[in-house]
Amino acid sequence: ESAMTARTRRLRDGVLNHQRSALAQAVTLVESTHPARRAQAQLLLTSLQRHVRAKEGQRARPTMRLGISGSPGVGKSTFIEAFGQHLLGSGLRLGVLTVDPSSTITGGSILGDKTRMPVLSAHPDAYVRPSPSSGSLGLSLPSSLAYLLWYRCSFRMIQLLARNTTDAIVLCEAFGADVVLVETVGVGQSEVAVADMVDMFILLLPPAGGDELQAAFDQNGVLHMLSNRQGIKRGIMEVSDLIIINKADGDLTQAAHRARVEHQNALHLMRRKSRNWDPEVVATSALEHRGISEVKDVIDSFYDAMMASGELMERRSNQYERWMWRHVQDDLMQRFHQHDGVKALLPEITRQMRERTMTPGVAAEHLIATFTA
Ligand code: GDP
Repeated sequence: ESAMTARTRRLRDGVLNHQRSALAQAVTLVESTHPARRAQAQLLLTSLQRHVRAKEGQRARPTMRLGISGSPGVGKSTFIEAFGQHLLGSGLRLGVLTVDPSSTITGGSILGDKTRMPVLSAHPDAYVRPSPSSGSLGLSLPSSLAYLLWYRCSFRMIQLLARNTTDAIVLCEAFGADVVLVETVGVGQSEVAVADMVDMFILLLPPAGGDELQAAFDQNGVLHMLSNRQGIKRGIMEVSDLIIINKADGDLTQAAHRARVEHQNALHLMRRKSRNWDPEVVATSALEHRGISEVKDVIDSFYDAMMASGELMERRSNQYERWMWRHVQDDLMQRFHQHDGVKALLPEITRQMRERTMTPGVAAEHLIATFTA
């Protein structure tokens, strides 16, 4: 408390008083990499976390942490805008966070900027985090190329984004959000990171995506011959608690309802994620605001089941443990790379590996021995 600057204290009070501008500044603060600001950010987070804990007892239900994923163009932002309005209409407060690894490369974003959700962005009870630009390489690249690039090299970036986002979730909860939506673009690693920071993972699919899935089943209903792409999709389906077939309108209405049944059947054949919840498939039209209250009903049932069984808090506790190890890993690796002994030893070890006089395993042992000496 005493180590907090007056500014940080003002931010804390503003966040707790549901001020959106204070929340926005707090999010910027926790995203900072500057050491002094990071220290203030940690103080702010610790203090706010304590307030959230204290208030948790008075609430019927903890903040809903929902992950939303899907390929570009499937309708994520349209859906979040419609779903968010539904929530605001019930008097709920919400935060929308985005994990978009492409933004760290292009400085722009595949998901686009905050103007994608104009109604939510203008509402005092909703906070939409703009794509973070911190850590950006600032290259201007076509988005397809950006995809390829980050897909190859971005594991660390995703970790960094994930870390900022888990902090931002705490801030949204202190702001009094009843629902925090964490959106990510559907291309693999970032989804796994998001699934690990939310209670419920929601996958949006287009109506016409059913074919590739069908092809993976033989006449006996056995799943096989998965291509890589199908393998990825299957993996993401397995971590999903709710699948939404969006764009169930106009010419696609029939296809959407077929896809709904197909995916519901496919889910029955997959490994179950939870003892207490069977994933559901719902068809929506985000554009026409149809199916939205059905989605909310499914989410409510999910929370009822997960809370009654105690699995919700168990999931969160397990996540916290994994987050902690990720912090440890991040921090240790950083120290390792900055260690003088390691830096001094590296050229010689690299040379010996190049000459094949030292194996990578032995090289690693030498480095670790130097680091821990
Ligand atoms: P995102 O990239 O996943 O965020 O997708 P967007 O929300 O930006 O939507 C991509 C396009 O699909 C836009 O042109 C939307 O208007 C359209 N779209 C989104 N939801 C629906 C829907 O339910 N029905 C129809 N027909 N179009 C939709």
